[in-house]
Amino acid sequence: MPDCLFCNIVEGKVPSKKVFEDDRTYAFEDIDPQAPTHVLVIPKKHISGLQNAEPSDAELIGYCYLVAARIAHERKIEDTLRTVCNVGPRAGQAVFHLHIHVLGGRDMKWPPG
Ligand code: AMP
Ligand code: ZN
Repeated sequence: MPDCLFCNIVEGKVPSKKVFEDDRTYAFEDIDPQAPTHVLVIPKKHISGLQNAEPSDAELIGYCYLVAARIAHERKIEDTLRTVCNVGPRAGQAVFHLHIHVLGGRDMKWPPG
């Protein structure tokens, strides 16, 4: 996906502050952090969003959440952790490469806006 911002980040064509990487996932600091920790976890495979995920993506998407939990553990934010996957423009999805926001380090309100 040449025009996908997050594919370009995975490929190093767009700079990012890497937090974690393995063969299937990449995690990096959000450029506009909304909490003391705000990391994005993405699959290296281009999936445009949860709305277009296939059953065969289930293990990969679940694995992204385990990466999010690992980052939260390393950051010691498990007591304030919020994982968010915005789906669709009206939910705030602006980048159409599936990503999990890993937010924490401050009190979180509920319900979200
Ligand atoms: P969403 O609105 O759920 O699609 O989330 C997209 C996120 O990507 C937002 O939180 C942005 O701040 C973040 N973002 C956009 N461009 C970059 C970039 N170049 N590097 C890191 N994060 C980015
Ligand atoms: Zn992509």
